[in-house]
Amino acid sequence: METRKVPEYFGSMVFDDRVMRSVLSDKVYNSIRKTIDEGAKLEKDVADSVAKAMRDWAVEKGATHFTHWFQPETGVTAEKHDSFIEPSPDGSVIMEFSGKELIQGEPDASSFPTGGLRATFEARGYTAWDPTSYAFIKDKTLCIPTAFCSYGGEALDKKTPLLRSMEALNKQALRILKLFGNDTVKYVHTSVGPEQEYFLITKEMYDKRPDLKYTGRTLFGSKPPKGQEMEDHYFGVIKPKVKEYMDDLDQELWKLGILAKTEHNEVAPAQHELAPIYAKTNIATDQNQLMMEIMKKVASRHGLVCLLHEKPFAGVNGSGKHNNWSISTDTGVNLLSPGETPYENAQFLLFLCAVIKAVDDYQDLLRLSVATAGNDHRLGANEAPPAIISMFLGDELSAILEAIENGTPYNGKEKNMIKLGVDVLPAFDRDTTDRNRTSPFAFTGNKFEFRSLGSSNSIACANIMLNSAVAESLKIYADRLEQADDFKEALQEMIKKTIKDHKRILFNGNGYTEEWVKEAVKVRGLSNYPTTPDCMPHLLDEKNVRMLTSHKVFSEKELQSRCEIMLDNYCKQVRIEVNTQLQILRRMILPAIEEYTAELSAGILKKKEVNQNLSCTYDTAMVNKLSGLADDLYQKAEELEQAEDKLKESPDAVSESKEIRDNILSKMQELREMADEAENYVSKECWPLPSYGELLFSVK
Ligand code: ADP
Ligand code: MG
Repeated sequence: METRKVPEYFGSMVFDDRVMRSVLSDKVYNSIRKTIDEGAKLEKDVADSVAKAMRDWAVEKGATHFTHWFQPETGVTAEKHDSFIEPSPDGSVIMEFSGKELIQGEPDASSFPTGGLRATFEARGYTAWDPTSYAFIKDKTLCIPTAFCSYGGEALDKKTPLLRSMEALNKQALRILKLFGNDTVKYVHTSVGPEQEYFLITKEMYDKRPDLKYTGRTLFGSKPPKGQEMEDHYFGVIKPKVKEYMDDLDQELWKLGILAKTEHNEVAPAQHELAPIYAKTNIATDQNQLMMEIMKKVASRHGLVCLLHEKPFAGVNGSGKHNNWSISTDTGVNLLSPGETPYENAQFLLFLCAVIKAVDDYQDLLRLSVATAGNDHRLGANEAPPAIISMFLGDELSAILEAIENGTPYNGKEKNMIKLGVDVLPAFDRDTTDRNRTSPFAFTGNKFEFRSLGSSNSIACANIMLNSAVAESLKIYADRLEQADDFKEALQEMIKKTIKDHKRILFNGNGYTEEWVKEAVKVRGLSNYPTTPDCMPHLLDEKNVRMLTSHKVFSEKELQSRCEIMLDNYCKQVRIEVNTQLQILRRMILPAIEEYTAELSAGILKKKEVNQNLSCTYDTAMVNKLSGLADDLYQKAEELEQAEDKLKESPDAVSESKEIRDNILSKMQELREMADEAENYVSKECWPLPSYGELLFSVK
């Protein structure tokens, strides 16, 4: 392992600002900076100069290829490598890379999901450089972060709508800041720090589990005698092998300029977390994708496998990704941080209200932005926030809002009425705003933590919806305030109204309880969509289409295609699971049960040869029990297969996904329970799969 000091190699594989400043002429540097900071158009000669400098830098670092690195809707990243080489007339080669190659690529995109956006005769897709995210070198390849769109200009990736949503929020936030007399701010952006959870198991164990290989999660497995009950793993001592992995991982991430910061054990055995320091949302999104890739790669160097699935093990906590989100100005002010002057406070409260309104009005969009087959196993399972979206503000901030709403004195020291824009907000203790782990959307002092994301998800979708919904609140506010005769009066009124209209979304209690589910739905009228088939079709609800298209985040066609792709992914994922489950059952588990019962039966005969009168109670009972289970398993597998066959008759992805929800999932679960019971009785030697205990405690 390298012993060089961290600052020497941090970002050494990134074509970042430091590199650009040193290798580009002042003129080119200033002009690319303008493109990065303000979205100014990139001139051809500038692109050529940047490309040349990028190539020299990359070749010097050993790169031989370049790729436009993008994030299609499959949720992973895609790349197609081209080498730099160009033939020279004398038979040798030179390393070439033009501005045109930097700016635009043209991958044959026919096998990426498009949800009907692109006819097959027009299979071309375009990738376009996103200069706001730095290029980097990975595996001797210069990777250029790009957006990916169709010939007709429709977005085929997650990056394009994310950038559009950031722009929408920027536009509306600037209008609000102007109303508060702030003309110096040029740009408002959102930042995200995603906390990434994962499991580590040994490669040896992984290789013996076809379910993990094909589906990312175990489809069978009886609970180990010791799981996470003792809670001795959380923040516990990190095992040497895991420590080596984390150190190596940090180094790789640091070279790529990713600010990996905290690493610790999580609640479940073999579960860990890695959190980087927050960055602008588009960069955080790119870096999180890259991080997940590197996590897997580094694991394989250590004889380990990094599991990013939301629920690799039943009965043990799954993995999520907390999306810490805030809004800041280019002048370095966090707009979700309570300020020190009356005006700053009023502004803070307005942005806070914008988020409250956004989360309430677009609960469904936030819910569906995190919906996948994998995450459905977590949400609402008493280990992750419920599928119902609500917000936690903490007691003090809630009391302040209540006082504003009712026009009553706030119960703070001075028992003051709060007059916005005139009074300073009473100081509240930030510590009390944290630590409600059951809330899907919690205010944590100067940022919100959206906790419903699944560990394998791209963070793009959640942030697209969040940014857009908040942009919509801000737009409504700005429309009204710009027309107001008395700004302060109007502001106070609007904040009051928001609290009154949207307080149903605020909930500081325990989100894991049955009572909350009842109260949320029956009393407060919040929506509860437990599964992906329940929530995804709401993407096309009229109010959602209207909002997202009005801010130009998606076109209507893009939304239709996305809904279809998401549901299609869901159905494919579950069908793969069904087939894997059937295969493991028929080719591994049933034969094992047979082998073991045959062994027992032979044993009974042998014993009786010794003594006719032996009762053989134990062996006989086992043979009966296991034969019964084998028959039931066989029967259930037939039923599951028939139900899966019937899916072919579904006319579209919406009905197929509902069919899965209603007729497949419970059969899979029943099948699993029977097999898990059998596992408890069959000898360890005969059982063909490593047990949960062996998997979860495999890393020493
Ligand atoms: P924890 O949630 O474990 O208490 P922290 O709150 O310190 O930890 O940080 C969690 C994540 O939130 C980190 O990735 C951190 O960089 C990020 N974070 C901190 N401040 C902000 C902010 N203003 N905007 C977005 N993310 C932030
Ligand atoms: Mg946190």
